[in-house]
Amino acid sequence: MITTLSNYSVEQICEGFVYNELEGKGLFGLAGTLTIQPEYQRNYIYADGKRDVAVIESLLKGYPLGLIYFNKVSEGSLEVLDGQQRITSFGRYITGKFAIKDENGMQQYFSGLAKDKQAKILDSKLLVYICEGTESEIKDWFKTINISGVPLNNQELLNAVYSGKFVTLGKEKFSNSQNSNVQKWSAYISGAVNRQDFWECALEWVSGGKDNIGDYMSKHRFDDNIKEVETYFNTVIEWADTVFLDVESEMRGLEWGRLYEEYHQKSYNPKVISERIQALYGDPYVKSRKGIWEFVLGGETDTKLLEVRVFDEATKKATYSKQTRSAEAEGLSNCPLCALGNDANRAKIWKAADMDADHVAAWSLGGKTSPENCQMLCKTHNRAKGNR
Ligand SMILES: [Zn+2]
Repeated sequence: MITTLSNYSVEQICEGFVYNELEGKGLFGLAGTLTIQPEYQRNYIYADGKRDVAVIESLLKGYPLGLIYFNKVSEGSLEVLDGQQRITSFGRYITGKFAIKDENGMQQYFSGLAKDKQAKILDSKLLVYICEGTESEIKDWFKTINISGVPLNNQELLNAVYSGKFVTLGKEKFSNSQNSNVQKWSAYISGAVNRQDFWECALEWVSGGKDNIGDYMSKHRFDDNIKEVETYFNTVIEWADTVFLDVESEMRGLEWGRLYEEYHQKSYNPKVISERIQALYGDPYVKSRKGIWEFVLGGETDTKLLEVRVFDEATKKATYSKQTRSAEAEGLSNCPLCALGNDANRAKIWKAADMDADHVAAWSLGGKTSPENCQMLCKTHNRAKGNR
């Protein structure tokens, strides 16, 4: 990556300054060659009569405004990466959008300032780093300089790095709180529309994982449509909508893209699925409700997904004492499975610490996590029996 340190005067940067009142954005400067507030940037937030005024007062006092960063998009085309709030502030002042108070408490617009003060502002020099490099270099760099102010989240950064038509279209569809589908999508996706969480999710699904989003955006950066993203997204949502009749809050934020990939070729009876989910939802032994949907999709075999409740310490202790007492009376191991064997462990009395609690009747077959259904097994046998 090449970075060049340059010098611009406020006057140069403000040449052709355009401020869009409606969108609250400073748009262009440097005679049209500088995009001040690219699509991905936050709107102008300094217009509060404090931060914008502070920028002008700094210039009048000759204080430095700090480093500004431009990204060289192509020959004769620059974008502001960092500094848009400061630039928009002095741009707006010079074009008469707001006033500052002078030493007598009088409102002063730029046009009413004394000529020497006007000149002081216009001649102020700004230090600007202009950066030119590969997308990943710019991305890293952008992450580094973005430590000041409200940090952009990862998707906002990616939107910045891969800005263009594709991102604009994606945001129109997936980052638009006016989109009437958002409500429906919210059953499956968690997060905030305006912080790019839905757009990120759509990209994650189509690209096959969060780590692939940057790659995907890079490949499609100059596309003039987002058809593939939309189609895949709609397919996943439609599938989930068809298989699961009920909407529960725990469905929000599940890995629907992965679930779709893994299970969409199996056929399901939505009515049966619905009954099973309701039953598991009401099962007090299911600790992780989030796992219910995948558990059911996978044919109800992987109980780890549900984190079925384990026996409490008191139950384990009581069961251990009872088992050990009768085992000693019979001269057999206190692990009922060891007692069935013929090896050296047949009469072994295990310490409590070397045993684990087990469901006699497996939870998946209706066995309860209650004292009557608890047995202590040596660790080896418990592991062998598995979490069924
Ligand atoms: Zn055993």
